[in-house]
This record gives sequence, C-alpha cells and structure tokens, in this order.
Amino acid sequence: DHQTFDAILDFWAAARPDGPAFDQDGRVTTYAEADVLTRQMIALMQARGIAKGDRVAWLGKNRDTYFLLYIAAARMGAVMVPIGWRLAPREIAYILGDTEARLVFADAGFVDTAKAVAADLPAHPEVIEAEVARAAAAAMAPADYTPPGLNDPVLQLYTSGTTGNPKGAMLSNGNLLGLRNAGNEAGLDWQFYDADDCMLVAMPCAHIGGTGLVNIAVANGVRSLVQAEFTPTGVLEAIEAGATHMFIVPAALQMVVQHPRAATTDFTNLKYLMYGAAPMPLELLKEAVGTMPTTRFLQAYGMTETSGTISILPPEDHRLEGNRRMRSAGKACPGVEIEVRGADNLEVPRGDIGEVCIRSPSNTAGYWKLADATARTIDPDGWLHTGDAGVMDDDGYVYIQDRIKDMIISGGENVYPAEVESAIYGHPAIAEVAVIGVPSAKWGEEVKACVVAKPGHAVDADDVIAWARERIAAFKAPKSVDIIPVMPRNASGKILRRELRAPYWEGQE
Ligand code: ATP
Ligand code: MG
Repeated sequence: DHQTFDAILDFWAAARPDGPAFDQDGRVTTYAEADVLTRQMIALMQARGIAKGDRVAWLGKNRDTYFLLYIAAARMGAVMVPIGWRLAPREIAYILGDTEARLVFADAGFVDTAKAVAADLPAHPEVIEAEVARAAAAAMAPADYTPPGLNDPVLQLYTSGTTGNPKGAMLSNGNLLGLRNAGNEAGLDWQFYDADDCMLVAMPCAHIGGTGLVNIAVANGVRSLVQAEFTPTGVLEAIEAGATHMFIVPAALQMVVQHPRAATTDFTNLKYLMYGAAPMPLELLKEAVGTMPTTRFLQAYGMTETSGTISILPPEDHRLEGNRRMRSAGKACPGVEIEVRGADNLEVPRGDIGEVCIRSPSNTAGYWKLADATARTIDPDGWLHTGDAGVMDDDGYVYIQDRIKDMIISGGENVYPAEVESAIYGHPAIAEVAVIGVPSAKWGEEVKACVVAKPGHAVDADDVIAWARERIAAFKAPKSVDIIPVMPRNASGKILRRELRAPYWEGQE
C-alpha cells in the first residue's frame, strides 16, 4: 500500500534495484539509481532554497531527467510545473509568471527561451539546463528531508486550454497515486503489470496523458520508455522493440494506424493500448482494433483535474461484432463515483443527458490562484463538474457526448459535434473533421462541418452532407461544409473548435 512517491521509490529500490525505471535513447536508470538520484536532486533544489510548497518548473520535451526531477519534487513536497514546449513565449511567460517559480529546469533546446522569459519576470527564476542539473545533483550527497503530507500539492498541471485559458490544477501524492491501490484490491487484470512490462511515454509530459503514465509505471515498478515527442514511426519502433503498454490520443492513433509502416509492423508485444483525452471516432477505433488484433484496448476518460483516468471501457467491450458499447467511455474505476446531473445539480434518470460529475480521491483540491473557478467546478461535498455532457446507461456505462460548451442548438434540437464528426469521419475523401455551430437566421444555429481532405482527394460539400444524412438524423447533418487546409489543434491533439467558430461569430456573442 504505497501512497506516496517517497514510499514507492524506497520500495522498488529494495525490491527491484536493477529493474529499469527510465529508458530514453538507450540511457537506462534503474530503480536503485532513481532512488539515489532523486534524493540527490532534492539536495540540489534545497541548495537553491527550494522548500516544501515552492514551485519549480520544467520547460522542454519529454526527458527522463524531467521525470526524475518531478519524482524528486514529489518526494520532498516541492511543486513541479511542467510547461508545454509548443507554447509561444508569451504563453510560457504567462504560466511561469503565474506560478512564481524561482527555479526552472530546461531542455538544452529551451534554455534560451526560458532565460529570455525569466529575465522579464519579477521572481527572476534561475534557469538550469536539465543535464547540467543532473550531473550537479549526482555529485551531491542525498538530502535529508521530510516527505509532504498526502494532500500537499506536488504537481501543478495546466489543463489543455481547449475551452479557454489553461488552469493550474494542483495535485497531491494522494491524488496521483490513490486510485492505484483501490484498483489492485478490485483485482482488475489491466491494473496488474509484470516486472518486465514497458510503458511507452510519448504523449507530452505537460499533460496528464504524459506525466500520468509515469505515475502508473513507477507505482508498478516497471520501465518507462521515454520518447522526446510523439512521432508515428517512433511509436511503431517502440512497439517492435518491446513496449507493452501505451496511451495515445485519437489524432495520434490515426497517424500510427494510417502510417504505411503499420502494415508491416508486428504489434504482438503491445499488450494494452489505452486511448482517450478526446472523442474517439468509431471507424478509427475499429480500424485500430483490426490493425492490432492481439492488443487489448482500453478507453480512458478523465481530465487533468482528476489526475487522469477515472473511467475505463475494458477490453471485452472492444469486440468488432455485435457490440453496443464501443462508443462508451466505460465504467467508473474502483474508488470513483460518477453521476450524470441536471441543471438542478441532481442526478438525472439513467439514459438522460446531463453533466458528468465526478467524486474521486484523485480529484484536485482546486486551481492555483483561481478561487472562483475552483468554487464553480467543485461542490462543497467534493463533486467535480466536468463541463462534459454525458449519458449513463442502466449498467453504469458512461457515454460522453461532448463538451457542454460545444453543444449546438439548431431549430430547438441539441446537437453534439462529436456524434456528427464520428458519422462523417468514415467518408473516403476525408482525413479530419470538426463540427461547429454557426449563426443562422432560420435555425438560430446551424451545423457546419470543417473538413480536411485526404491527400489526393477532392471533397464535394453536397456529397458530405448526403453521407451524413444517411447515417444520422437530418437535423444533426451539416447544412454547410468548409474545406480547410489544416485542422487547428492544441498540443494535446484536441481540436480547437473555438478557433473555427470565431470568424462566424465575430460581433455576435
Ligand atoms: P480546458 O479545461 O483548459 O478547456 P481540456 O478540458 O481539454 O482543456 P484536459 O484536462 O487535458 O483539458 O482534458 C479533459 C477533457 O478531455 C475532458 O473534460 C473531456 O472533454 C475530454 N476527454 C477526456 N477523455 C475523453 C474520452 N475518453 N472521450 C471523450 N472526451 C474525453
Ligand atoms: Mg477541461
């Protein structure tokens, strides 16, 4: 029953000293080495005046050294803030300034950006290149420290910024690791890891889909195979090289499955593929299951504020034939409560649509410096309002419709873009699709599809509309189609519908 990173590192350093904890580009750090190195990194932070509750930041791609610094912070109670490297300097400055961090660790390629941003901030944070910090720490004596309390924040993770400004969710050891133990007690097979299992960490560490995977891997004493950033060939190579577990967002899975090399890749090493973070088009999921017939698929639903996954659609619900549930985000994980609630904040009858609400030991205590947003999101009795519209069936399976904010009201009917997108997705000429509502004198709002054509294909708007009308109710089918060159997405691979909507709503909202 290991509830903290401090206890977990002690445990695996004794139980699996030579077991690999991190592996990046052939550099392997064992659990015994990770135990010592993280305590040395604590010494390095302490020498720079970092104490419990102080923020330290990371700017860079995925790097084994970042994950070790994160664990060091979690052991001593400093708060790690990973910042997405794809952000513009102005956005980096916003987050770094917001955190008041006094120490920034940066990947070699981001030291200049970090220094330029830091110079303009009142806290004047010190910037240290990651490998310089690692080498300096390795020359120090491991620190003395008292581990933080179970509920003290140790990770401040910014939400993806899909619906507005990113918010810093504060997460504690208890939040990040608590659900593990409940899952183990429930005896779920996908919660168990063999000693030689290998977690591929290719999703960005500034998001819960990246850092959250390392939490799972470390809790289970297995290897994290770290890739600096996602590439489809990197994923295919990692699977052939022995990755047994991975998490991937739908947009990235599409690139993997449709890559020419997928046809000749041997997927048998990959035991479990977890996917989530955005609605999964059904056709894509079927294609992926068909491409990797020996891999067991898990849909994960969750958010930064819940430390990641809080519901799972298990492998047995991924059968290609006779399956009603493949569109579901599954059932609450052990230890998690999910309710679908109406505007009166009471549970709606099963089968009715409402807002997905979550009570879980993994829920954040709140957003950094955003007391109002925290109060709007989390009830006094601990229920977190996700902003996602969903339905729960009689068996407790949750179906995520879409963000409530993205719902289109057309002629008095509610239309959820994700359903329309999923229907259009299978069209042979279309690579990517996003559905938005645009102003309409007749309908209030009307449904518009924005599509990216597959290379070498021409898209005909009438044909797309006809395709949709064969598959979904007429009021949900698009009334117009925009053909766009690239889909606007954020670093988590999520479609930025607000950018597509903006030109149509200027001066109207
Ligand atoms: P912001 O809160 O800043 O607008 P965000 O909500 O995209 O950004 P994250 O915390 O990374 O930031 O994402 C959580 C959201 O992702 C969920 O609220 C939900 O809308 C979506 N999501 C996660 N998993 C799934 C899933 N399996 N199916 C559909 N949507 C999902
Ligand atoms: Mg959100």
